[in-house]
Amino acid sequence: MIVLPEGVRGVCHGEAAPPRPGLILDRDGVVVVEVNYLSRPDDVALERGAVDLLKACAARGVPVGVATNQSGIDRGYFGWAEYDAVAARLDALLAEHGVAPLTTAACAYHPKHTPDWSPQHDHWRKPGPGLCLWLAEVLGLDLARSWLVGDKASDLKAARAAGMAGALHVLTGHGIEERTKALDVATDTFPVLTADNLADVVGMMDRLFPA
Ligand SMILES: [Mg+2]
Repeated sequence: MIVLPEGVRGVCHGEAAPPRPGLILDRDGVVVVEVNYLSRPDDVALERGAVDLLKACAARGVPVGVATNQSGIDRGYFGWAEYDAVAARLDALLAEHGVAPLTTAACAYHPKHTPDWSPQHDHWRKPGPGLCLWLAEVLGLDLARSWLVGDKASDLKAARAAGMAGALHVLTGHGIEERTKALDVATDTFPVLTADNLADVVGMMDRLFPA
């Protein structure tokens, strides 16, 4: 079992099942509107298409996890209490639309702000695979058939490092300035698909998760 070190938080709302294809989403700039170092519940706003995508996944039995770098914590901008308040607000907004709480893994680390930086920190902070691997364990994901959606190249690199099927790059959040770098993450065995936002991803479900 993967043990979460200090500075990494994981809250699972799912249950163990035989490995199956799933979707891992970045949070800021993908599920919620980017506001750089989001720490106030009042600033939480759902990105376009988030509810529709989460409902589409639920309808198909596709488990969803969220992997989010939260270096604002180790930078000292806010603490886990503020992180938890934001997470609760996000879950409450989703509940208003009939969507279940999101199983989420968050990493507080930053190479310039976390003391005694080590390979373990690199493992957990995206572009490392740690958050995705933990989500795969708790949600029972078959990573080789699972996809990630992110707005930054580092999100996509984390998916690649975790052995995922591929990734989708969206233009919300930091997506516009990251598009070129994101496309460069693709390899012969790791496709990078493009979409404008999560609303577009809804229309790609058949391709991502063939029956
Ligand atoms: Mg992001």
